[in-house]
Amino acid sequence: MELLAPAGDIKKLKYAVYYGANAVYAAGNNFGLRAKNTNFSEVHLKEAVDFCHKYDCKIYITVNIFAHNSDIEQLPKYLSFLQKIGVDALIISDPGVFSLAKEFAPNVDIHISTQANVTSWRAVDFWYKLGAKRIILARELGIKEIEEIKKKVPEIELEMFVHGAMCMSYSGRCLISAFLNNRSANRGLCTQPCRWEYNLIEKSRPGEFFKIEEDERGSYFFNSKDLNLIKRIPQILQAGIDSIKIEGRMKSLYYVAAVTRAYKAAIEANKNVISPNIQEELNKVSHRYYSEAFFDKFDSSETQYYGSSAYIREYQFVGEVLKVKGTSAFISIKAKFCIGEEIEFIFPDDKNDFKITVNSIFNEENEPIQLTKPNTIIRIELDRKIPDWGIVRKKI
Ligand code: SF4
Repeated sequence: MELLAPAGDIKKLKYAVYYGANAVYAAGNNFGLRAKNTNFSEVHLKEAVDFCHKYDCKIYITVNIFAHNSDIEQLPKYLSFLQKIGVDALIISDPGVFSLAKEFAPNVDIHISTQANVTSWRAVDFWYKLGAKRIILARELGIKEIEEIKKKVPEIELEMFVHGAMCMSYSGRCLISAFLNNRSANRGLCTQPCRWEYNLIEKSRPGEFFKIEEDERGSYFFNSKDLNLIKRIPQILQAGIDSIKIEGRMKSLYYVAAVTRAYKAAIEANKNVISPNIQEELNKVSHRYYSEAFFDKFDSSETQYYGSSAYIREYQFVGEVLKVKGTSAFISIKAKFCIGEEIEFIFPDDKNDFKITVNSIFNEENEPIQLTKPNTIIRIELDRKIPDWGIVRKKI
């Protein structure tokens, strides 16, 4: 079973690959959802494809907008370019884009995006007969339905989401963000206003906020929990799913690395019960309350949390190891830590993970300092040599 990780930019893509992904998904500057700040220029796309193939990893590119006429004019050139640089598949939801891909990138596989909301075996069969190679199933499906689809249309590959943010709408088919912020979820620009806390103001009394409460749980009525199916990996393997997907192209490289590594370990457990240590790793990334969503039954009461939409943070991503020289680690700082604090280094192979209490820090001028500052580079002396691609975190 393939482990498919998000690649918001070239650096996150590399972390995904080093931490265990067999495939990554990314977007170019146009035509992919999650458009803002997380896309690859054409030069970066080529670099990304070459990097992935060097490490025997596949790369899929999202072209999953619902296209307007003006988009259609620009798509042929872009699709031909993607074929030329050797991407492994295109992720598409719009039938117009699908037909253009057949014409202008005929040698590239097509995966039907979760935006297309495929929820039944007839819909899967429909896309299979049109030539799709894979279906990315709607998150609203349970495992029994997925098993039935696999039996009825065994020829097509099935991909399912196992981890990450969910949406109270059917996968982004929602107008709240477009209405409130002029940023459409269907163009990849959702600002998640479903998770905000709303109050009521009477026009002639500005500044006086009245609570909106349907009941004692307040007004987070659209706030979805995050998906987490790590315990279910043995069942997912048993069902013959071809690929499992982690959501989160907008998330940090630490999130991508840690979540990818945890699911890789779960797959390697090979249908055995997933150990608590692996499950615990997912609590060490910033997340909302977890849910298994619709895996067992279609019951939305388990998928929402009405009390707050704040993230749960037990650990903080404090740095990325840029360079290792002997036992010196040069770290790009993302958040503060100081002398006397405990920090933890994690690596692609978790056998190399370790914790230290910080007893010295040096700035770029090689002067000793007490406290790190974000967006600086520091040096720490360790008692061992460490592998590349280390990440530093601390318990909050
Ligand atoms: S506002 Fe919320 S429900 Fe709507 S698309 Fe964005 S995440 Fe989904």
